[in-house]
This record gives sequence, structure tokens and C-alpha cells, in this order.
Amino acid sequence: MSISIQGLTRRYGAFSALEGVSLDIAKGEFVALLGPSGSGKSTLLRILAGLDDPDQGSVQRDDEDLLALEAQHRRVGLVFQHYALFAHMTVSENVAFGLRVRPRRQRPSRREIATRVQELLRRVQLEDMARRYPAQLSGGQRQRVALARALAVEPSLLLLDEPFGALDAQVRVTLRGWLRELQRSLGLTTLLVTHDQEEALELADRVVVMNQGRIEQIGTPAEIYREPATPFVYGFIGRANRFDGRIESSRLWLGTHAVPGELPATWAPGAVSVWLRPEHVTLAPRSGTGWAGQVVRLVQAGSAVRASLQLQGCEGIEVEAEWSADDVERRALVSGSAVAVQLRELTLFHAGGLRHVFHPRQDDGGANGGAVDIGPWLHRRG
Ligand code: ADP
Ligand code: MG
Repeated sequence: MSISIQGLTRRYGAFSALEGVSLDIAKGEFVALLGPSGSGKSTLLRILAGLDDPDQGSVQRDDEDLLALEAQHRRVGLVFQHYALFAHMTVSENVAFGLRVRPRRQRPSRREIATRVQELLRRVQLEDMARRYPAQLSGGQRQRVALARALAVEPSLLLLDEPFGALDAQVRVTLRGWLRELQRSLGLTTLLVTHDQEEALELADRVVVMNQGRIEQIGTPAEIYREPATPFVYGFIGRANRFDGRIESSRLWLGTHAVPGELPATWAPGAVSVWLRPEHVTLAPRSGTGWAGQVVRLVQAGSAVRASLQLQGCEGIEVEAEWSADDVERRALVSGSAVAVQLRELTLFHAGGLRHVFHPRQDDGGANGGAVDIGPWLHRRG
């Protein structure tokens, strides 16, 4: 079932926990709400679940007014970080709970309940644990029971609030892949709240980035990372460098350094905030080209190396670059080494929110940014 959220607002006195939030979720879609603590994620989820009411706004599920329904009639499955299982009930009793408490007329028979519980435990790969008590399970197993319990009532919408938040990193990663599989196979419309960007980017079809009760951006994981719509999203997702830059005489200035390449005349002169991903700070291919600087620090991070740099004319800030371990080794870079770098892609935010992407000229002496143009050769080969 599809969900259409329009202009949801929730205030506590003068403070807005949610302010005019609108979002459409397609049938079977997996959407992640991502944002820092206090940005309103749980408030939105609680409203959808019927645990809280908005001051303004509407929620439609297909053609039905979801907010008009009592919580127990919403057919919503809920899993929280600390949605404690009933300690005195076995795993299968926990999963059956939502069915057993139904009014007599809607309650499945004992046998039907037993069959459904067994099927759910198989889905969450806990068939062998049916008779155990929660205290006899690991954290990851408990959250799988919580999920089976949420699924028992055949929800049309699954709401997950930091479901793996209390688990250790390795279990979290395993459960992620497992949740994605389960969600796909059931075709269940799902909204996941998380402050963990890796979790959101890996799991969701679309990510909703929230900040201070508002939506900053809605997009696919690739869009959110590659085309952040606001400075907040740029800084919140992935690693980022930020400069106070200025546009003057159709050039972009970072400190006293003019970035190579002319800006379109339509980009207004003045102050801009300039954002740059570490992977867009590359080592200049030839000596005598690029922006000169010095390595301050090198940190090995898996197959990549994170370098902190001081660049000439922009000494106030440390620029972070990400290079391959191979490159660093080949050039025998150590802290203190002189380097020259090129900036591949800069995102400029003007006051007032206007956003521009700038690809500096790669002044390494060659045409076409110094890369060999193999286009004509490819065509000839065919
Ligand atoms: P998140 O889940 O993104 O961490 P929440 O939705 O829980 O954020 O909370 C959003 C904001 O609303 C927070 O600043 C929180 O303090 C505030 N808030 C939540 N519930 C209440 C409440 N019952 N009374 C007052 N403020 C609240
Ligand atoms: Mg929360």
C-alpha cells in the first residue's frame, strides 16, 4: 500500500519537532529516515503508528485516512530499538501475542496461530528457538523475534525505529542484509529510522534526510551522496571538506588561491560556501602542475589512505584527501611530503541556497584534463 504524508507538523509549545513534512512512499518501497538525534524521525514514526497525533497535516494510505484510525486498527508493524520482548513468554508466545489478543471474532484458531508463528520463525531463521525465553537469546536474535512479532499481524506498513541501534557493528551488518531480503520477499512498504548513514544508504530505495524537524532532501542513496541539495546534507553524508570561498572576476578563490577555470558569468560574485569530497582531491599527474601543498598526516583506512593537507594560500584549514594505498606508496609519501593536488568537483552554495557544481580545469598541461582521449580510438575499433 502506498502512503502519502502531507504537511505534518508536531509542536511542543513553541518548539517544532516536525514542521511541514511531506513524503510519498510507494507500495513495497523501503524508505530510510536519516538525520541527527532530535531531528524528528521518531516523532514522524510515532504519528504513523498512532502513538502520537500531529497538530497539522494528513496521512493517506491508498484512499484511506490513516490518522482517523485508532492505533490498533492501523495494521502497522512496529519495531523499536528497545521494544522489549515479554520476558515471561517464550519466543513463539511472543510472536503469537498480537494474534492472541485480537477480539474473538478476528482471532485465528489456535492451530492457525501455531502455523503462522512457525512460518514466521522460519522466515527470521529462528525455528529452533521457539521454546526459548528472551533472556536465552542474543541481541540480534531478540530483534529478529521482535520483527517476527511485528509481522505476525500482517501489517501493511512496517515501521522500524533504530532496530539495530543497540547491537554491535558486525551483527548490525549481518542483520541489515537479512532485513533487506525479508522486506523484498514480502514486498512490504517499510519506513526505517536511523542515524547511521551507512545503514540508510545500504538498505533503502530512497533516503529522507531530516534536520530540525524538516526534510532537507529526498533521493536515492546515489543522489543523496553525489548531489547533496543543501550544505547540511553535504556535511552530514560521507566525508566532506568545507571552505569559505568567494567568486570574483569569474574565478573561484579559496584563500589567495584561484581555482583553475573560469566560472559561468551568471554565477553571482560574492561569498560562497564551497564543499569538496576527499576523493575529489587527487594527486596531480605531473610535477609543476596542480595546487601545491604539504602532507600533514596520513592515516591508513583499509585499502585507502586518508591524507590531511595544508594547501598554499589556504593555510587556515586542513584539507582531507583520500588516495589509494598504491599511489601513496609509489610516490613514497610521508607526513611532511610536498605534494600537488587537483580538485575534481566542487559544490558551491550561495547565500540564499542557490547551488552550483564546478569542475575546475585540470591544468596539467594536456588537453582534456590530461587524460588520454580514447574516444576516437574506440570508434575506429568498431
Ligand atoms: P529523533 O528521533 O530524530 O532523534 P525525536 O522525533 O525523538 O527525534 O524528537 C524530535 C524533537 O522533539 C527533539 O528535540 C525532542 O526533544 C522533542 N520531543 C520529542 N518528544 C517530546 C515531548 N514529549 N515533549 C517535548 N519535546 C519532545
Ligand atoms: Mg529517535
